[in-house]
Amino acid sequence: MAFWRRKKNKEAFSGSILGLDKSVEELKAREEAIERELGVRFNKAIAKTRHSINDKLDTVFESRKKIDEAFLDELEEMLISTDIGVSTTFQVLDSVRKGVSRAEITDMAALKGRMKEELLSILHASEAAGVASETVVDESVKPYVLLVVGVNGVGKTTTIGKLSQRIKNEGNEVMICAADTFRAAASEQLEIWSERAGVPLIQQKQGTDPAAVLFDALKSAKARDADVLIVDTAGRLHNKSNLMAELEKMKRIASREVENAPHETLLVIDAVTGQNGLEQARQFMNVAEVTGIVLTKLDGTAKGGIAVAISKELNLPIRYVGIGEGVDDLTLFDPEIYVDGLFE
Ligand code: GDP
Ligand code: MG
Repeated sequence: MAFWRRKKNKEAFSGSILGLDKSVEELKAREEAIERELGVRFNKAIAKTRHSINDKLDTVFESRKKIDEAFLDELEEMLISTDIGVSTTFQVLDSVRKGVSRAEITDMAALKGRMKEELLSILHASEAAGVASETVVDESVKPYVLLVVGVNGVGKTTTIGKLSQRIKNEGNEVMICAADTFRAAASEQLEIWSERAGVPLIQQKQGTDPAAVLFDALKSAKARDADVLIVDTAGRLHNKSNLMAELEKMKRIASREVENAPHETLLVIDAVTGQNGLEQARQFMNVAEVTGIVLTKLDGTAKGGIAVAISKELNLPIRYVGIGEGVDDLTLFDPEIYVDGLFE
């Protein structure tokens, strides 16, 4: 599972940069070990959510021993409490009720199976929108411009740090553009990440027009023949008309300098903020042409059901999830692993 890949690398082993002196088998084993570890960490991150659906369901069933109306009421309450969203909850319950009345669902295994099916179908439906998770980028696209947007504090800068490290480790030339020129701290924080990852950072003094910084960064990225340019932006929702004008200008500059740029616009959402975050996200969708979601802080909440609400209500795929503050705490979002993790 590579985070980002070139067309020419499509068949190539993505972990080859881990050490060229090693045999392909050794490297493959090592990459698999990394993926396994990420899987374990992801499962840990959704443990609280799993507890609030799966474990509670088991407890209720044990005392009641049958799936009746009272049981379904409890199920509804549990689903709502994980921020899965009202419309998703109704969709799931509707399907479960049908299954119960047709005697297809008589035990917990069948009930969980049906719930998994419904949740997966929602998550898969949104994958077609936006940029698909298995992005394979043509060699002619250089630099691939990835714009990162979202409200202050959701985890944009942290995600960019993690993402740049991972994409670089997969053998790509990465650069970062500090276009959140509103807060001095934003640039300082990016500087730390860029040094840690060994990825060049293009920045200017606080207050500079973000579009001017982006222009600079695009020029440098082209001069250095960089594969990917990741752009940090400011998230001042309270000043929406400014934000809109700013993003518009940045997009104009980007597409003028690089054909079809930005190629991807990731909206970062903080899982802890739940339905509130979803509302902020909607406002962002109105000003930026978002192609995918990064869901951060999944490790800090029992309301991990928000992933499904986001997919259903925004109709956008979740590309990555943040599962901690460390550089390795970012993983691709896999609907199967997520849904299995909720019910395992
Ligand atoms: P920005 O304002 O959108 O750029 O947000 P930052 O990247 O500065 O992040 C805000 C805070 O959230 C920081 O303290 C980060 O360490 C923390 N954070 C970001 N992503 C995650 C995550 O996936 N899990 C946890 N637990 N904390 C995170
Ligand atoms: Mg920031």
